[in-house]
Amino acid sequence: MKDRIQLKALAKINLGLDVLRRREDGYHEVKMIMQTISLHDDLEIRRIKTPEIQVKTNLYYLPTNENNLVYKAAKLLMDEFGIKEGVAIQLKKRIPVAAGMAGGSTDGAAVLWGMNQMYGLGLSRQELMERGVKLGADVPYCVQRGTALAEGIGERLSVLPSMPKCTILIAKPGISVSTKFVYENLHANDLKPEQHPDVDRMIEAMKEKNLDLLCERMGNVLETVTIPAYPVIQEIKEHMMACGAAGAMMSGSGPTVFGIFHSPVQAKAAMKDLKVNGLAKQLYLTTPYNVKR
Ligand code: ATP
Repeated sequence: MKDRIQLKALAKINLGLDVLRRREDGYHEVKMIMQTISLHDDLEIRRIKTPEIQVKTNLYYLPTNENNLVYKAAKLLMDEFGIKEGVAIQLKKRIPVAAGMAGGSTDGAAVLWGMNQMYGLGLSRQELMERGVKLGADVPYCVQRGTALAEGIGERLSVLPSMPKCTILIAKPGISVSTKFVYENLHANDLKPEQHPDVDRMIEAMKEKNLDLLCERMGNVLETVTIPAYPVIQEIKEHMMACGAAGAMMSGSGPTVFGIFHSPVQAKAAMKDLKVNGLAKQLYLTTPYNVKR
């Protein structure tokens, strides 16, 4: 049994996001293309003698109690496997918070994975994913990683061909967008057909490994709500395109925008510009993270 373990919790972007309908129970049925990127939070889990879960993080405004997904993930496995001692979790956040990048979900997934290793619980990836869904719809995907089609409420996953090589610029404006606001203002059942991205055609482009075609077909239906409400999202997209991006789009329910560039030089230039003009408050250069299966 290991005493401590260090983990990287990787962020995701949505290369495609469609909402098919609002179900009667209030959940939305989605069809999303998920892509893991190298941008990550750092976690360390350490065994401690006292029977408690301690969470420390570099962001003062994040919860460190049962409202943090790392706490929830640790508790879930400790309860199920009767682990009597405690754990201390150190979380260094880098992934923008409440930004459409599954930051909390990936931290939770990393803790599931890490505790499984540390305590030799013997759970398979599939079994970790089954536990993950109890923490949130995106958690199973964060355990799986790579490129995937997510359906249902986001928990039904199929592996897709990996994304072609490129540089990705992440830009988060200094605004907060509530996911609840976005979904409540999305009139999913009244959208016109042309407002839905064609996710199937995106998958064809991925199979062809054609980055330009993929970028041309990218779409996120949630932009129909966020862009009129927060025009800075559109401004960042336009700026990235003017700097040579092959495509630029909002991730998840926003407000983070990502730009896909063939060349790191162009991506760096766009990053510099967005820093100077102040449109984005958090900027990162990253790449797709592909899983070898
Ligand atoms: P998604 O892409 O799945 O919609 P998100 O990027 O919108 O996720 P998160 O960064 O996961 O959202 O954070 C949403 C809220 O969850 C935060 O405001 C925070 O209070 C809470 N939270 C709980 N645990 C964490 C965590 N480990 N990291 C970040 N936020 C967390």
